[in-house]
Amino acid sequence: MGVGKSNAKVYVEKQTGVSFKDVAGQEEAKESLTEIVDFLHNPTKYTRIGAKLPKGALLVGPPGTGKTLLAKAVAGEANVPFFSLSGSDFVEMFVGVGASRVRDLFKQAQQQAPCIIFIDEIDAIGKSRDSRYGGNDEREQTLNQLLSNMDGFDSSKGLVVLGATNRPEVLDKALLRPGRFDRRIIVDKPDLKGRIDILKVHSKNVLMHDSVDLEAIGRATSGAVGSDLANMINESAILAVKKGRTVVTQEDLLESVEVVIAGKEKKDRILGKEEKRIVAYHEVGHALVTALMKHAEPVQKITIVPRTMGSLGYVMQVPEEEKYLMSKEELTTRIVTLFGGRAAEKIVFDSVTTGASNDIEKATSLARAMVTQYGMSDRFGLIGLESVEDRYLDGKPVMNCSDQTVSEVDNEVIRILKECYNKAEELLAGNRDVLDKIADYLFTKETITGEEFMKLYHEVKGDRDPIKKAPEEPLRIEDGGQTILMDSFADAPGSEPDGQAERKQEPEDSITKNC
Ligand code: ADP
Ligand code: ZN
Repeated sequence: MGVGKSNAKVYVEKQTGVSFKDVAGQEEAKESLTEIVDFLHNPTKYTRIGAKLPKGALLVGPPGTGKTLLAKAVAGEANVPFFSLSGSDFVEMFVGVGASRVRDLFKQAQQQAPCIIFIDEIDAIGKSRDSRYGGNDEREQTLNQLLSNMDGFDSSKGLVVLGATNRPEVLDKALLRPGRFDRRIIVDKPDLKGRIDILKVHSKNVLMHDSVDLEAIGRATSGAVGSDLANMINESAILAVKKGRTVVTQEDLLESVEVVIAGKEKKDRILGKEEKRIVAYHEVGHALVTALMKHAEPVQKITIVPRTMGSLGYVMQVPEEEKYLMSKEELTTRIVTLFGGRAAEKIVFDSVTTGASNDIEKATSLARAMVTQYGMSDRFGLIGLESVEDRYLDGKPVMNCSDQTVSEVDNEVIRILKECYNKAEELLAGNRDVLDKIADYLFTKETITGEEFMKLYHEVKGDRDPIKKAPEEPLRIEDGGQTILMDSFADAPGSEPDGQAERKQEPEDSITKNC
């Protein structure tokens, strides 16, 4: 090739060495793929009887759930070569280069069939040609080439194209027609059992102390995907070595859960005294509002040790049970809790900082979703003001209403947010004594557990119980509820919020968007 900049590389592995055993959980996906393994194993068994072999299947699911691993396992199980290429490499290439790469790929693969072609991030090539999504000549040419190759190749020798995406909605409909990517295999985030199994697979070759309880780790990692869990096991092994141990302990594992979720403790990032005081009040503000509200999840840990992923401190809340639905009261409580940080700053210092930017963003998207998607506002009631399919698009969401309504929606969102903020301020102002006491304590200790938090609360308030009790022991979590990390990414302007904690903050089906 030699011209211009091309990152698009075709990788070939003669033998992937991966089998279904290496993929934990994902039983349904494996079951659907077993059929493809059989096609590849023995194509003539099917062609003899007159059956047409499938040409393509889409693996659909969030990043890190094991789509690539599954595709490799298919090749490994069928003992055929694995050709792979990533759609995102095609972005920013010269016109024509992508198309020729696709042509080459199919040519090579056909010579070696039976085999698997795996196209990761297929949405980068296969985005709808509809101009709504912005045209791109290069991508269109590549896509057209892919379509013509999909139609052109002879599947009777056993050639299956697997595509992976987490945004199937944006794909050009032509890609999904019969004879192309007409099968869809869902590769979802693992549930509790899946997480435990993944932890087991990855700890197979790691020396673990007998007391290690992977189930407890599975419970503490709701929302984590396979790659997070693999990462946690590895981090824990590295931690153990750092601490001069020869086996991994439960403590190492728990610490690595936090490292993966919130980033490493940043030892060299020292907060000035005043800043540290603000952060302490901010975090305690969140925690105290939580303790004072009825529908909030118990506080598990509060820390003001800065983390590498941009947080200055955070509050960790662990729900008592797994939740799939959230009530209006719970959503409102979440918003009030999110405002606890800012409200504490305002009450104590009578000034505000940038520390709440992430809180505000999350609160806003929750409030907006309540109005436009969940039918939870008095003003509008039951009306779908925002299209669900559009949540997968890059740009602004499409509102299904007149411009006038859009501005009324804004007003309603503003009203909800104001009301929630006022509630947070009212709760904290009414409990200034506890706020001061716990913030002082956090300032010196830097990290406190939910238990310590409640103990301090009782020291000030006597026996009067707040609404929520602390969990009896840290990380004793019932069936994989969603761990909430408040503030894990709140930082100065410009810090990039990462998807990880974002996901954990929100009910499964509310995707952050602002318009
Ligand atoms: P995706 O292609 O969906 O983004 P990958 O297949 O690249 O995800 O997963 C990244 C890594 O995470 C894998 O190499 C593996 O170590 C780990 N992993 C993900 N899902 C699983 C799983 N179900 N079982 C075991 N390991 C997994
Ligand atoms: Zn905050």
